Amino acid sequence: MQMRIGGTETASLDEAWIEIKNPSTGELVDRVPAGTAEDMARAVDAAGIAFDTWKKKTLRERGMILFRAAEKVREQHKDLARLLTMEQGKPLRESIDEVRGYANILEFYGGISAHQSGETIRLGSAGDCLVVREPLGVCGAIIPWNMPVIIMGWKVGPALLAGNTLVLKPASSTPLTNLNLAKILDEAGLPPGVLNVVTGTGEQAGEALVRHPDVRKISFTGSCATGMRVKELTSHHLKDVTLELGGSDPMIVLNDAHIDHAVEGALRGRFYNAGQTCTAVKRLYVQEGVADIFIQKLKERVSALNVGNGLGPKIDMGPLNSSGQREIISQAVENTRNNQDGKIIEGGCALKGKAYESGYFYRPTLVTDVTPKSPLITEEIFGPVLPVMSVPNLEAAIREANNTRFGLGASVWTTNLHSAKKVFDEVHAGIIWVNRHLTLPPEVPFGGTGGSGIGRENGQDSLDQYSQTKSLFLNW
Ligand code: NAD
Ligand code: MN
Repeated sequence: MQMRIGGTETASLDEAWIEIKNPSTGELVDRVPAGTAEDMARAVDAAGIAFDTWKKKTLRERGMILFRAAEKVREQHKDLARLLTMEQGKPLRESIDEVRGYANILEFYGGISAHQSGETIRLGSAGDCLVVREPLGVCGAIIPWNMPVIIMGWKVGPALLAGNTLVLKPASSTPLTNLNLAKILDEAGLPPGVLNVVTGTGEQAGEALVRHPDVRKISFTGSCATGMRVKELTSHHLKDVTLELGGSDPMIVLNDAHIDHAVEGALRGRFYNAGQTCTAVKRLYVQEGVADIFIQKLKERVSALNVGNGLGPKIDMGPLNSSGQREIISQAVENTRNNQDGKIIEGGCALKGKAYESGYFYRPTLVTDVTPKSPLITEEIFGPVLPVMSVPNLEAAIREANNTRFGLGASVWTTNLHSAKKVFDEVHAGIIWVNRHLTLPPEVPFGGTGGSGIGRENGQDSLDQYSQTKSLFLNW
């Protein structure tokens, strides 16, 4: 496929390509241009020209285009989901969820367009003030490979509705569905240049976008290390920045929880998308009274997970997205084995056999009795490995939950309202779920605290962060 600049497909000026391989089979799916700084400059120019007319459209006009695109996405959801599974690896069912979730986001922002209004401030004899919101200008969006479709929605929906134009840099291993979704938005009536997609590596295309002087905001989702680099680079032109970074979400299960419900929550919370989710359950703290039975039930469910090619029937978990990701995960488990800072009670190795040899599969893994200093606890483990610890009481659980530099999400599983309230008040995170984990609906603002990032996506918050106020003082 080609990149999209100014509403048309275009090659990179220097003819280099990135091959997109299916992580289940190693087969070539397609190739995309390795965009350069010049390609990025062309895209930013196109977005700059488009901004002059796009910002003058009414919210309703912009919202209608989002609605139309959502409808087309729903019509084509099967093909889009298939392509997502082929480039990303996740089971087809999860890809379908993700594509529909993207349509939900466009519809949410399309609908919100009817409910935006400014503020007036009366200042007595001094006059009256009118406060309106204006778009920022050309914005840059940089996204990762784990949920490329949903995360594109989180950025495209509010950025475009607010009147900005956008240059999107997909992850280098998952650009294909993003390119198709951009084409659909163009077909739904987006004027040329409002949304541009430049494919390529982070070092080349990504940095060129972050460094470009005409870009007013960077919305970045990805790892903490890259996020810090982006923050540093955006300081040069005082660009606005949103950083949605890694997490190490704790899940706390108390003695009074509905155990079977919590087991299913942990299973989905950790192994959905092969564990490659920012708000996956990354540390599980179970209260002593139910720890044995909980771990026994969870182990049974984990060992029964059907791992395989995401396009296959009844697949619960696909491969990791790349050999590099699998290497990081196997190394982390190997270290635990060697350092004895946890007991591997399920999985703990790559899958063996003919069906698995060309893909990046890893067995769903459970590790108990993990010590707080283990990298399984201190680092973000972005794969299907779940550390489970038993804790004496709620206070200890909260203490352990907060013993991290991250602060993205957290959940507590309990039937006691006071315990739930205590977790909500005391655990550091941008979202706390009670008897649930992982769900991020477009209506609800979401983002990190501490090392997990700056700014919010979704909800009215995100729309506000893609605009700024301008005040008019009327001395009548
Ligand atoms: P990554 O940081 O390696 O890459 C993310 C994006 O940044 C990619 O498009 C990449 O090409 C680009 N990039 C890399 N170096 C760059 C640079 N120097 N300048 C500009 N762009 C650059 O992250 P990843 O491995 O793709 O994604 C996994 C991480 O994303 C995990 O830590 C996960 O928790 C996090 N994540 C966070 C959220 C959230 O909403 N908080 C959601 C999903 C994923
Ligand atoms: Mn990475």
